[in-house]
Amino acid sequence: MMSESADAANGPGDTVSTVTLPDRVRLTFDLDVDVCVVGAGLAGVTVALEAARMGASVAVLEGRYVGWNASGHHLGTVMPGYGIPVGDLIARVGFDDARELWSLSNQGADYVRAQAADDIIPGLALTNGALEVSNVDAGDKLISRLQMLGEDFATEVEGWQADRVRVTLRTDRYFHGVHYPRAFQIDGRKYVYGLADLARKAGVRIFEETPVVSIDASGVRKRIVTPQARLRAAHVVLAGNIHLGEASRRLSDTLLPVWRYAAVTAPLGDRLAEIMTFQGSVTDSDGIDHFRIVGGDRLMWSSPETTWAGQPRRRAGAIRRRIRTIFPKLGKVEIADVFSGVIGQTVHGMPQVGQLRPGLWVASGFGRQGLNTSAMAGQLIARSILCGDDRWKLFSPFELVWAGGTTGRVAGYAIGMAERAGSAAAGTLARYRERARGRERTREARLAAANRQAGTRVPQRPPYRAPAPNDSGGTADTSSP
Ligand SMILES: Cc1cc2nc3c(=O)[nH]c(=O)nc-3n(C[C@H](O)[C@H](O)[C@H](O)COP(=O)(O)OP(=O)(O)OC[C@H]3O[C@@H](n4cnc5c(N)ncnc54)[C@H](O)[C@@H]3O)c2cc1C
Repeated sequence: MMSESADAANGPGDTVSTVTLPDRVRLTFDLDVDVCVVGAGLAGVTVALEAARMGASVAVLEGRYVGWNASGHHLGTVMPGYGIPVGDLIARVGFDDARELWSLSNQGADYVRAQAADDIIPGLALTNGALEVSNVDAGDKLISRLQMLGEDFATEVEGWQADRVRVTLRTDRYFHGVHYPRAFQIDGRKYVYGLADLARKAGVRIFEETPVVSIDASGVRKRIVTPQARLRAAHVVLAGNIHLGEASRRLSDTLLPVWRYAAVTAPLGDRLAEIMTFQGSVTDSDGIDHFRIVGGDRLMWSSPETTWAGQPRRRAGAIRRRIRTIFPKLGKVEIADVFSGVIGQTVHGMPQVGQLRPGLWVASGFGRQGLNTSAMAGQLIARSILCGDDRWKLFSPFELVWAGGTTGRVAGYAIGMAERAGSAAAGTLARYRERARGRERTREARLAAANRQAGTRVPQRPPYRAPAPNDSGGTADTSSP
């Protein structure tokens, strides 16, 4: 056994959790298996584990090491659904298929919860509940969404009024919220290592530092080439996310790489409990901020995104400023760790799950919400390969669409900037309106008090009279026909 290498150590919660990993094994000899999985992130390890549990011989080929990218560097929030609003899902596939897809996403979340039991993957520090808070005052829209999620999509949800949100999070940035009591969070890095451990115990052979350089998927037995050895398999699962590269250029070109940065603060002591009593995670409705308490009195905070790689350390200042903007009462905050991962964003916002040609499968494009969706995809693909489950076809409407290459990245960056600026402006306007309403209420109360003191009656507006159908109201054209 060995401790983590220097680059692996740049992960979330290094300050709050330590992990010991097995020695890395490279593929140096030719091998024949039932299922070859490319990539040992959450998606690859889950499909491998589930296929092995069903009796297949499985090899995972990983170019770096287990959880090297996003899967070892995320915030660990497990939510139902996908990265797109449920209304968009219905618009795309119709109500019935949207419900089935949603139910699959719930099963993905249930899968993670089941693996996170103490006797399966211990020490994941599970906490319950996730709160999605709105940057604007649009509570009326909330009611229909709550009804749809609760009644039609069997998802437990609660609507929180702005007052409750502000008692729980001491900031006036947010208005109402949607609370998902059954959502939860786990130590993300320990989870992916725990899954890999379970997979090894189930018989999966995981080869790290073994990049796949090419795949010939034309025959019944697929040929997979790595720098030192070849592998033959009846099924290949492409779970390499954004880094798949030459192994399947066509597929990697359908993903827009988005670097997401996150930080863990130094201990904040009692100050943190004064500004935040919620132990679950918080996301804003525009997908800008995502944070939660870790290790008792630290904040783990994920904020800026870019479509170009950058040094995580350089983002510390931006994250610190973001925390200060949301929670000015917290005062000065020190950043202890910064980390990042690249997520693969599809053009339609839904993951890529299914069979590309007989025996060639894909599980990628999980975007910002990869925990429940990669668990769902892993189970679905393993069952499809081994039991003929064909529910992956529900994902067929979400085709492989070219993400636009470099132009797409530039456009993605510009759109991201514009959306963030738009959200910030909408938030500022909502808060301005709220303050103006507050000032108006105070002014009216003062006027009423002054009138009471002076013994005068508060002047009442004459009651509103709805105009009769043929009543011109006196200002419009009064000429009769
Ligand atoms: C900062 C941050 C916070 C996040 N927070 C959350 C959260 O709270 N909740 C949530 O649900 N999601 C979250 N996500 C998203 C989630 O982490 C991802 O959606 C998920 O990890 C993607 O998993 P994956 O297996 O598809 O990809 P990856 O983690 O990228 O794994 C793919 C693996 O394939 C390997 N690979 C690629 N090509 C090859 C090749 N040719 N040969 C061999 N190996 C190859 C790579 O080395 C890599 O290890 C977050 C992401 C980030 C970056």
